[in-house]
Amino acid sequence: MVKMIFLGAPGVGKGTHSNLVAEAHGIVKISTGDLLRENVKAGTELGLKAKEYMDAGGLVPDDLVIALLKDRISKDDCGKGFILDGFPRTIPQAEALSGITEIDLVVNLSAPEEVIIGRLSGRWTCKKCDAIYHELNIKPKVEGVCDKCGGELYQRDDQKPEVVKKRLETYQKDTAPLIDFYKSKGSFIEVNVEGNVEEVNKRVQEAINDKLNG
Ligand code: AMP
Repeated sequence: MVKMIFLGAPGVGKGTHSNLVAEAHGIVKISTGDLLRENVKAGTELGLKAKEYMDAGGLVPDDLVIALLKDRISKDDCGKGFILDGFPRTIPQAEALSGITEIDLVVNLSAPEEVIIGRLSGRWTCKKCDAIYHELNIKPKVEGVCDKCGGELYQRDDQKPEVVKKRLETYQKDTAPLIDFYKSKGSFIEVNVEGNVEEVNKRVQEAINDKLNG
């Protein structure tokens, strides 16, 4: 049983690396961003409330996200543990989480701001299967078309340049304080994510295994 949190600015690759680590440990990966997007797509009451905050690059109110997360981690598939990607995003969320469950390890993915901006601007998403591409380094074989399912690629509202800027400001103001919050609590590691995905993932997996086994 292992429970981890992945922290980091938007664009550091939390989604990619947490998926690979979850696979390696045989545990589920939970992304509040994915859960919220599912709700938006399905047109639920929560989705309708969340959409305006998401489209503007801000945060969905704590009470909504905390309830969503609490419900998700109570499911049977979390019995062996889980990785949280994109939660907590504020100190009140972190405090609520500590009242719900214990966390074994916090992994902070870091990169210089210019690297993050380069990665975030130029992202495109598949309308059908949500796969993510990048103009510079993850190009689809045919422009505007998903390699995996043939769906049409588009820029999500939160991938547009002005919203990217707002998301980074939101990260600095609300989420970056979590680094000190968790550092002071103990089991915390930081991994630099510059480099290609395979290289960085190896670094991430090794750092995690060293910490968990050491
Ligand atoms: P993500 O895919 O993690 O970048 O999340 C996409 C958007 O969903 C964010 O920009 C927020 O608007 C919202 N969101 C995701 N997770 C949270 C959270 N823990 N607290 C508040 N808003 C969130």
